[in-house]
Amino acid sequence: MVEEVASRVVNNIVRAYRFAREELGVSIPRETLLAVLGEAEHIALHELAHGIVRAIYPEIAGIHHRDPVLGECIDEVYGRMIELYISRRIGAYTHSFEEHAYELAHYTSLQGLGIRASSLEELYRRVEELLEEKRLRESIEVVARRCMEWAGRQR
Ligand SMILES: [Zn+2]
Repeated sequence: MVEEVASRVVNNIVRAYRFAREELGVSIPRETLLAVLGEAEHIALHELAHGIVRAIYPEIAGIHHRDPVLGECIDEVYGRMIELYISRRIGAYTHSFEEHAYELAHYTSLQGLGIRASSLEELYRRVEELLEEKRLRESIEVVARRCMEWAGRQR
């Protein structure tokens, strides 16, 4: 079932590329197709990371509701940490900390927090240590506390 859906997704991307060329007569550079496939993989890993956040930290839904800035910070920052951890281990493409900081700065709700690449890298080192020991819950709590500091929230 999972394999079937996975190959259908990839095949449909390639079929759409061929359809454009053969049926519509538009030839897209091969590099575009390769970039699109890489992007599809990356988007999927990012969304899986959000799934992990919901699984190990169910209260994220309530936090999003009560304090959208804090909720988005925890979801997006931790999501990127677990995405990076998994991507490195399976050999998938990863963004640099600079790219993550740049993307985070473009979330309307996170703009004022001033999250820097160096802070993300430092935070990642602590998260990674806990993930090595499979202490997932503690690893997201570390990020939640950092987000509270960034957002100027008191406990
Ligand atoms: Zn996201």
